[in-house]
Amino acid sequence: MIMHEVLIVGGGLAGLMAAMNVSGKADAAVLSKVYPTRSHSGAAQGGFNAVMGEDDSIEAHVFDTVKGSDYLGDQEAIEVLCSDGPRVILDLERMGVPWTRAEDGRIAQRSLGGAGFPRACFAADFSGHVVLHTLYEQALKRGVKTYPEWHLLEILVDKGRVFGAVIYDLARARLEVIRAKRIVLATGGYGRAFLKTTNGHANTGDGMAIAYRAGAVLSDMEFVQFHPTTLYGTNILISEAARGEGGYLRNALGERFMAEYAPGKMELAPRDVVARAIFKEIKEGRGFEGHYVHLDLTHLGERLVAERLPQVRDLAIRYSGVDPARVPMPIEPAQHYSMGGVRTDVWGMTGLEGLMAAGEVANVSVHGANRLGGNSLLETVVFGARAGRKAAELAPGEPWPDVSSNTVKDALDRWNRLCLAPSAHSRSDDDQFAVRREMATIMTNQVGVFRTGVELEDAVARLEGLRKRYRDLPVPVGPQPFNYGLMDYIEVGHLLDLSEIIARGALARRESRGAHYRLDFPQRDDRNWLHHTFAHTTDRGPEFSAGPVSITRFQPQERGY
Ligand SMILES: Cc1cc2nc3c(=O)[nH]c(=O)nc-3n(C[C@H](O)[C@H](O)[C@H](O)COP(=O)(O)OP(=O)(O)OC[C@H]3O[C@@H](n4cnc5c(N)ncnc54)[C@H](O)[C@@H]3O)c2cc1C
Repeated sequence: MIMHEVLIVGGGLAGLMAAMNVSGKADAAVLSKVYPTRSHSGAAQGGFNAVMGEDDSIEAHVFDTVKGSDYLGDQEAIEVLCSDGPRVILDLERMGVPWTRAEDGRIAQRSLGGAGFPRACFAADFSGHVVLHTLYEQALKRGVKTYPEWHLLEILVDKGRVFGAVIYDLARARLEVIRAKRIVLATGGYGRAFLKTTNGHANTGDGMAIAYRAGAVLSDMEFVQFHPTTLYGTNILISEAARGEGGYLRNALGERFMAEYAPGKMELAPRDVVARAIFKEIKEGRGFEGHYVHLDLTHLGERLVAERLPQVRDLAIRYSGVDPARVPMPIEPAQHYSMGGVRTDVWGMTGLEGLMAAGEVANVSVHGANRLGGNSLLETVVFGARAGRKAAELAPGEPWPDVSSNTVKDALDRWNRLCLAPSAHSRSDDDQFAVRREMATIMTNQVGVFRTGVELEDAVARLEGLRKRYRDLPVPVGPQPFNYGLMDYIEVGHLLDLSEIIARGALARRESRGAHYRLDFPQRDDRNWLHHTFAHTTDRGPEFSAGPVSITRFQPQERGY
């Protein structure tokens, strides 16, 4: 049996940052179902928010984030995010991150939505890619052990304490148990629950679903972010940096319609506001045929587009056939980010002993009902580092948890039957891809930017039906290497669990706040709904309860831009 004091699951920014902070202090390993540098963090373009300029202030960053969250973000956690930010940006620089520079040599910063100041540090529009590669090189240099293409299947719990995990080694088609004193989950989001999403294929919410099944609490799952500008048809993200550098949104009449919705911020209003504005333009007939609007960079000049937005330009040319320096890009909103996740405190501790979490999989509640652009990358490095530091402080002094050998044996038997036994329990000729497509269509059409009670009720009923179908699906079993069909089957199970929780949470929340917009309850209702939603697993399915929001400096007020 493999043993590590701290097992970090996820090789994206949160996981690698945690690993950097454990290394040298405790024995750590990083497990990742995709090779670490292919983690989704590498797709991030826009940048990392942090207060670096003299005119900006931590207080302003905290306020923008609280307001952006529609007052559902926990202010204690937001203070930590914003205060730790500048130091972490400089730490990354010392590790070798080549931040883009201003003319005077300082780290350059650009405007992203909802920020009152150009606050995002960036490396052209390859920000996530550059930092991910730097962290991975540093982790290798420090001798952090990695297990690439190993899939977490189950978190093992005995007497209420986490003691290890069941893993599937994809290349060797083999099950493994890794024992650990602490597990840090950094497995990212669940974007693939939606048909229209900016997220990569690996974003199937595994960590959230596995932690939930093991007894951890999920919070605020009804809050799902839809990014306003994705390429029409493919939903490849066109970074907010394009609007940060001065891009305009125009409807089919050529109008800069954001003047109607957020005259003070225009295209740089927060994402929930801009996504709703685009949908409304399209719904009311001012979109282009086929339901899209334009993102126009043509006035910025070829030089600026080439220097500051090279990836945006390349993506638009490759996937839409338009050069954005010359022709406006067709765009539509799509699912982008998971505000909800495994509930943690500001040190990454969950309610389940031995389990920690950081990054998009976690809900430390810095984004509340709506995340601001640039705050998620910051969250991964700030809270990844904090989780790593805490794990390194605790793990060496902790005894190895006692484990009954039956717990391990039972888990292994169960997974062996599913993963490695010859195809035995195929009771239908239904298939996992049909179930997945139906789920993702329901989520996009009925649990999207605009929601209604009637549609959500129908979505919950249909998702329950899909879960029943899922139980009877044929499983692509067999001990062959790289059995992606099997992994896909397991991931669909995770997505179904999470989709049901999201839809049920959205149905229960009878108000509109941030990214959760109910056409039948269009007002924010602080009297009844200024609280978090906690979801717990039970034999009867998910059960929900309410949790308090930390409000320290800024009292809720009406949110306008
Ligand atoms: C296209 C795009 C652009 C973005 N741009 C920005 C931006 O400019 N600024 C910003 O602030 N935010 C941005 N975001 C959001 C931000 O990039 C993500 O929220 C963040 O990178 C998530 O990092 P993470 O470390 O939590 O997870 P990820 O980077 O998604 O990494 C997850 C890791 O977990 C591993 N994993 C998952 N499941 C398992 C399993 N079962 N077993 C083993 N390993 C597993 C994966 O292999 C991977 O290594 C963007 C998001 C997208 C989709």
